[in-house]
Amino acid sequence: MECKICGCKDSKQIYNGTIRDGIFGNYTQKPVEMWQCCSCGAIYHENITKSASYYESVEYREKMGEKPGDYEALHDREVLEKLNYTGTDIFRNKIVADIGCAGGSFLDFVSGAADKVIGIEPTSAYHGILLEKGYHVYAYANDALEDFENTVDVVTSFDVIEHVENPVTFLKECHRLLVPGGRIIIGTPTEQPVMRMALGAEYDRFLFSTQHLWILNKESLELSARQAGFKNIHVSYRQRYGLGNLVAWLKHKKPMGNVSWPYISESVSKNWALNCEERELADYIIIYAEK
Ligand SMILES: [Zn+2]
Repeated sequence: MECKICGCKDSKQIYNGTIRDGIFGNYTQKPVEMWQCCSCGAIYHENITKSASYYESVEYREKMGEKPGDYEALHDREVLEKLNYTGTDIFRNKIVADIGCAGGSFLDFVSGAADKVIGIEPTSAYHGILLEKGYHVYAYANDALEDFENTVDVVTSFDVIEHVENPVTFLKECHRLLVPGGRIIIGTPTEQPVMRMALGAEYDRFLFSTQHLWILNKESLELSARQAGFKNIHVSYRQRYGLGNLVAWLKHKKPMGNVSWPYISESVSKNWALNCEERELADYIIIYAEK
């Protein structure tokens, strides 16, 4: 198996079993081999069932527990967390593109400050809503190049790069969209070592999924950005789930979100999250880079 990020031919099989197919509780019929590159550390599987057009379908969104009609109710609350790591000052009077924007929750909160907003989203069911909001809408970054090559100031993309066939190709498209000096802020789930340490294969079966073709770590994400031509690359970790989530996993062997327990205070949970971030054991990673 050759790693598409670093070209290394030395990958080891780290898992061979059924993996998550959509939301928790759905698993593949057949075992799937998961590989980890011995050089850059990226974890991947061969794209098993999904074609690009799958992500254009409502079926995919529904499989992820989402319907275009109730998108905002589900996703508006996630925007604050995203703004925490993007900051707000980079959007004023700028051209901003969000890749994989779905119904546009994040862009809705940015559009008041930004000069122009570009929503890039393969699921065509969202295009009507995005157009009504006055955004420039495209299915893929490649499609936006004709109108916006070398003009975009900020490209954001959350929970998308792990779905693409080739992360380097994806980042090259982001690079082409950007004006010189323009910035990307891209977030993706990590291999979540703290949860894997605690739960082992039980967690692997949830972490590995048909929809995530990649699980990138700091090294493989930085390398992908360098290969795509970015400079001033910086990575930071975010722990999105608190200590209550880990306890719920240990107790119930299933994801239950940020569960509260009477014996875990908010401050302990926050400190635990900080501890995961400082030790680079957090569940989410964000890359910042410049063209
Ligand atoms: Zn590699």
